[in-house]
Formats: sequence, C-alpha cells, structure tokens
Amino acid sequence: MAGTSLPQSKKRVGATGRSEYIHDIDKIAAIPECQRAKLKEVARKYAFRANDYYLNLIDWNDPADPIRQIIIPREEELHDWGKLDASNERGVTVTRGVQHKYPHTVLLLCTEMCGAHCRYCFRKRLFMGGNRETANNVAEGPAYVAANPGVTNVLLSGGDPLLLSTRRLAELLGALRNIAHVKIIRIGSKMPAFNPWRLLDDPDLQNVLRRYSTPRKRIYLMTHFDHPRELTGAAIDCVDCAIRSGVICVNQCPLVKGVNDNADVLATLFRELSFIGCPPYYVFQGRPAAGNEPYKVPIVRGWEIVRQAMRQGSGLACRARFVMSHETGKLEILSVDDDHMYLRYHRAKDPAMRGRFMIYKRDDEACWLDELELVDSRSALEFAPSSLDHPDRLQAADDLADTGVLDN
Ligand code: SF4
Repeated sequence: MAGTSLPQSKKRVGATGRSEYIHDIDKIAAIPECQRAKLKEVARKYAFRANDYYLNLIDWNDPADPIRQIIIPREEELHDWGKLDASNERGVTVTRGVQHKYPHTVLLLCTEMCGAHCRYCFRKRLFMGGNRETANNVAEGPAYVAANPGVTNVLLSGGDPLLLSTRRLAELLGALRNIAHVKIIRIGSKMPAFNPWRLLDDPDLQNVLRRYSTPRKRIYLMTHFDHPRELTGAAIDCVDCAIRSGVICVNQCPLVKGVNDNADVLATLFRELSFIGCPPYYVFQGRPAAGNEPYKVPIVRGWEIVRQAMRQGSGLACRARFVMSHETGKLEILSVDDDHMYLRYHRAKDPAMRGRFMIYKRDDEACWLDELELVDSRSALEFAPSSLDHPDRLQAADDLADTGVLDN
C-alpha cells in the first residue's frame, strides 16, 4: 500500500488474521483526498475491510486495476439496484446459521467475518448491523446435520470459516467428522488470497485439517481466487500447505466486471490454478445483490468469456462449470445461439426440476434468470442437445448430479 513501509513480499497480517485490518478509507494514502468523502459514504452502507498485504497487490497507478476493483469501494455501489438477499437464502434457512436447500447438502454460515470484504459480495448483508443469520455457536450446525441422515455433504461458509479460531474450527470439524453420514466437508474460503499466513503460520490449523481430512473422507478447500494476480508466492505456498495437510483444493469465483470479465485473464487464472493443484470448479454468474451494479456481467457475455477461456487450457484447466445460483436451484449455462439461451438445472430446490433443460429467449442485457423469457423446458430425455457446446458433458453432469456429490 502506498504509504506503508514493509516490502510487498514480506507483508503479513498476523498469524491468526487478527491484526492490521484496515476499515478506514483515510488510512489509504493512495486514494486521492477528493475521492474519500464519497467512498466513505459507500463504506458506511456496505462495510469496507482490507489488510496491508492485499492492498499492496494493487497497482495504484492504474485506476482500472483489477485488485482495486475487488476491494476498494466504488460510488456506483450506491445506485438503487438489486436485493440484499438476491437468492432468498433466508427462504432455505432452517435454523440460525443453517441453510438446507438440496436434500444431500447443508450449508453452515459459521461466521459473519471475512479476511477482507469483496465489494461484489452477495452476502454483504451479513456485514451489516442486525445480522442474525450466522450461527451463535459451532454446535448448532452439527446438531442439525446429525438429525438429518440424508445429509452427506456439508459446506462451511459465511463469512469466511477460516476466520474462526483454530479451536472453534477444530470443534466444528470434529463434530461433523463424528457424524457417520457426512462424507464430504467443504470449506469455502478466500483466506488463501486475502491472508495466506492464516494457514501458513498456524501449525495447529494444519494439524486439524490433517486429522479430519482422511483418506476415506476428504476435506475440500474451495478457494476463491478471482484474478491471476492474487496468486502470489505466499498464496501458492498456502495452497501447497493445504494440500500437504491432506486437503483437496478447487477454486470457485464469480465473474466480476473489471476483475475477470476477460477471456485471457480467466484462461490465465484457470491455467495457473491447474498448475498449483487447485483446478477451477465453478464460475458463478454474479448475483444481483444490492450494491453490485458496477460489477455485473450480462449472462450472454459471461458465457462467451467462459467459453473462450475454456478453449485456451488443458483439460484440468477447463473443468469449470459456469453456473447461476438462483433461488430455484443451480443452473448451468450451457450454450447460447442467435435466438436462445440453454440452461440446465444442475441442482434444483424442487426435485421435479432436477436435470431439466430450460430454453430462454436470448437477451444480451439480462444478468439474472428472473429477467429471461422462458420458451420451453424439457427433461433430459426429451432434449436433443444438438446445439450445445459440450454434449458429452451433459451425461456426465447427469451422472454426477445423481451421486449428490456436486451439490452446493
Ligand atoms: S470472501 Fe466471500 S463472503 Fe467474504 S466478502 Fe468475499 S465474497 Fe463475501
């Protein structure tokens, strides 16, 4: 960060992520004085949080710098656009901090804290006053899961679960590992990007992961790298450390305007992630969350970017699915032609919709499912995917969906 003294490669924010957080725009000398009042107004509505290490990744000479877009507020966030809970997560909340949308999968909101705040976050409501959605204590989630034997897959989210103390995380993972029907535990975290030392400097956390990520039941770390510039030496060491702790790493990220809405950037990200053993898993269509207008990418454009990026890498670099996590389920955006857009329910809240192909009128401006006009919908058996880019993936998607392993 301009005005700080440590060389970039030596920047640390504390072994447990407790220190050197920055919440005050005035502390960032590189932001011109004349812009600060407006940005502080934005930050009063949608909280600002960063740290030295991450701010040091910004090229302050470039107003369009992608890391800057991720972390520094923009005044357009104040435009009246979107909803705070764009996917109606409250509608699938069964008890505080526990979301149960699909039969096999439970999502636990473990904490409302994050290593920093992505400006485009779709859960920014958790950082606002009056949040009552995250768990009060780590026992509530496992208790719900234990009482529901159909749940094989638990996703720890938030906020960032790696912001929990190592002791509480150990308690949570231990409780989940004691439940025989839980096969997969996923930890969704941007800490490898925001503060790699959270894992690198905490041998206790490494041991906890090693203990609970077993040969028969692995823990998955769902990293969140949005841009290749986040893959610093420390971030790569962090992924390596997770892998050495027995964890499987995969990456998921949204498409964000000004950050990764470029096929070459996305292809580089995919490629480099595949090199370090953290291949891409999901690319998300950005949810229309309040404050996110400046970060939106229309679905058709997003599909074109992902498609072009996928053409540039090896098989492992091209494993991502481009999906939209809608209130009704998770839809994969399969293809677009001159007139239509082809989507498929990868997961569906209504079991009858699972695997269903949806055909919508092409709309190059639309950013979310609710803006699209439905033309037709068919079951997998009724659909001849002659115009789809990856017809061979359709059967694979069906097979994987049937295992219940790929829920989210
Ligand atoms: S890391 Fe995830 S939850 Fe936290 S601010 Fe970023 S997008 Fe939101």
